[in-house]
Amino acid sequence: MRGRRWRLALLALASSPLASPVLGAADTAWRAPAGVAPGDVLRVVAEGGAEVAAAELTLVGGDGEPHVRGVRFFRTAPTSWVAMAGVPSTLPPGEYAILASPTPGVPPLRLPLRITERAFAELDIPLDASLTDLRRSPEPRKAQQARELLALLQQFDAQALFHHGRLRLPLTELRSTSAYGDRRRYLYADGSEALSIHHGVDLAAVQGVSVRAAGAGRVAMAELRIVTGNTVVIEHLPGVFSLYYHLHAMEVTVGDRVAAGAEIGTVGRTGLATGSHLHWEVRVAAVPVDPMRLVATPLLRSPQ
Ligand SMILES: [Zn+2]
Repeated sequence: MRGRRWRLALLALASSPLASPVLGAADTAWRAPAGVAPGDVLRVVAEGGAEVAAAELTLVGGDGEPHVRGVRFFRTAPTSWVAMAGVPSTLPPGEYAILASPTPGVPPLRLPLRITERAFAELDIPLDASLTDLRRSPEPRKAQQARELLALLQQFDAQALFHHGRLRLPLTELRSTSAYGDRRRYLYADGSEALSIHHGVDLAAVQGVSVRAAGAGRVAMAELRIVTGNTVVIEHLPGVFSLYYHLHAMEVTVGDRVAAGAEIGTVGRTGLATGSHLHWEVRVAAVPVDPMRLVATPLLRSPQ
């Protein structure tokens, strides 16, 4: 058994640019990066047996306070597992730790993780009277829709293995108007204001331009919502979803399987939108991450 453990650890070391494996109390080798930035995807790889399915990953600060918790592992090969967590754009830089334990009652594995500094832009967005009303109205259906979307994004289907590579841009022509993590100040029509963080990227385009799936997946939502307008959500991996807001038309329904690049709708300005554009967002274990980082690097390194 001991020989097998070391062999797996060496294989893992040879095939991955991640940090050296750490052998836990159980017969499992864990690998994680030494550092990540706000908006990145944190991937923790475990080489082990079926016990890893029960492990949950937590990200804690130097003071022990959890910032991300309950992230589960899914199997990518017979003895390879990965947990994917989103690093919130609000995390201050510093020393953190990844905790994971596959066995209840056993003290968790602890891996150090550095969160590096990342600056985000600040911008003002004036809203006219009708968009002010839309954003501030205490309409109970808005809160209900927010709860439903969050519940969907917290779902974890270990069998949902649809896309391993890079994501592609959902529009063929790229004109970005607002980046991930922008600190926004909404200026209301009555002179008051409110702060918010932009969870996706805004891509400007005229109404009617095709919106394409960023990766292969399964349609998890296709419906008209109050704030986000016509909204499509696609599941790519367990806990990994891309979201497309303010569509003019939707051309998919829940349950559809889509290929990367398939047309899923057209650009519009439905919901809370100051002009025709696509809001494109990616959530990993419910945390919004920077979609542009996933255009540059694959969701999973393959083979895992
Ligand atoms: Zn947006």
